[in-house]
Amino acid sequence: MEKDPVCGMLVDPQRSAGSLIQGGKTYYFCSQSCRAKFEKEPTRYVSKDAGEKIEKK
Ligand SMILES: [Zn+2]
Repeated sequence: MEKDPVCGMLVDPQRSAGSLIQGGKTYYFCSQSCRAKFEKEPTRYVSKDAGEKIEKK
């Protein structure tokens, strides 16, 4: 399972609604809207040197 960087949900890569490659890593999303948010502002969800780290509110 991979973590959706936008909402923090665990996503099965095989069943994800979408994916994007950012900084050499592939991110998977639970929905198209999460994917669209990430695409607009990827740096908001991914810190440059900690690909695993998820920003929490
Ligand atoms: Zn999501």
